[in-house]
Amino acid sequence: MTGMTSTARPHLNRRLAEFGTTIFAEMSALAASTGSINLGQGFPDTDGPEEIREAAVRALRDGRGNQYPPGPGIPELRTAIAAHQLRRYGLSYDPDTEVLVTAGATEAIAASLLGLLEPGDEVVALEPYYDSYAASIAMAGGRRVPVTLRPSTEDAQDGTGGGRFRLDLDELRAAVTDRTRLLLINTPHNPTGTVLTRTELAAIAELAVERDLLVVTDEVYEHLVFDDAEHIPLATFPGMRERTVTIGSAGKTYSFTGWKVGWVTAAPELVTAVRSAKQFLTYVSAGPFQYAVAEALALPDAYYDEFRREMRERRDILAEGLAQAGFKVFRTSGTYFITTDIRPLGEKDGFAFCRALPERAGVVAIPNAVFYDDREAGAPFVRFAFCKRKGVLDEAVTRLKRLAV
Ligand code: PMP
Ligand code: GLN
Repeated sequence: MTGMTSTARPHLNRRLAEFGTTIFAEMSALAASTGSINLGQGFPDTDGPEEIREAAVRALRDGRGNQYPPGPGIPELRTAIAAHQLRRYGLSYDPDTEVLVTAGATEAIAASLLGLLEPGDEVVALEPYYDSYAASIAMAGGRRVPVTLRPSTEDAQDGTGGGRFRLDLDELRAAVTDRTRLLLINTPHNPTGTVLTRTELAAIAELAVERDLLVVTDEVYEHLVFDDAEHIPLATFPGMRERTVTIGSAGKTYSFTGWKVGWVTAAPELVTAVRSAKQFLTYVSAGPFQYAVAEALALPDAYYDEFRREMRERRDILAEGLAQAGFKVFRTSGTYFITTDIRPLGEKDGFAFCRALPERAGVVAIPNAVFYDDREAGAPFVRFAFCKRKGVLDEAVTRLKRLAV
């Protein structure tokens, strides 16, 4: 017999074969089975504002959103998203033609890539990249071209060792070819905690305009920026509004990651392309939660200020604790993640380290290598999430300090 029988052929297709189970599922399962403190998967251990939770309950009870909501999202939410972009960034979007509600940012990313790429198109993405980017590029038949962020020592912080991860603008320019269709950007950046600076963003924008590229920018951590860092949407730069798909999510901003309400803002032709894919993925989702998120988007500035203050305090607790436990700690200016280097602990393989950590210390973390094509480049880095109650962080730090002895 020539060729393979259908049973000999792997069930999982070639496009997805390299991805396996997401690291978040693997590590959260490990945390549950070992009873460890889960500083792996990024989700808060306390829910968002009570009044927003009540808004969801009211919507459920009143029968708002219990049947299919409109394909692009309920008008109240699209209007609230447009108002948020205008109020925070001076970006004006038409709620009817330039806003699309999605099943979390994850679907927004997948639908953007499925809607905008032809097979063989190259996508330049910042490495380390959030894991769904690689899978979504693959599902769309695109080719990913990573540009690696590297830690700088210039701005190393006192006492805790590491500086911030930086984008090398020459490397970014060199990665763009005639086959490049799209730049996939993420700021504030998961997992490094870097917030791209105005200079870096301006260079990305100039490159996109010069080479006539589309840009998909994942800004789900837009409200989680600390110290003197500022979140500047890429769409605000000259020539960018018409070529940029901006992605946001309620999960991170309002601490309801399970609700899976995300959105896209972009010019009408881009939103149409994304919606064309999205309508065949979920069509619609999260009816009652859409009403609640519309209310959340109207929360006063005080909510965001307090949220940031709380998260900054937690970042400081964990960053100091990790440094005391012997890790090299890189500067986190955004997101709720801290990336560390485990080499000062005499370790070099983040995978092995994270698999052993529950047993050794009763803590779960994420090996950054999963976010790299160049696994070697990511091998010594390990990510910890600080979106947890302070007592939980204190206990995690106490446990991690045992590693050094
Ligand atoms: N993008 C980034 C950078 C993320 O960290 C996450 C995880 N929260 C997502 C997208 C997915 O967001 P959502 O839960 O809204 O799908
Ligand atoms: N975004 C979260 C993180 O980076 C996890 C989301 C997920 O589990 N897919 O940890």
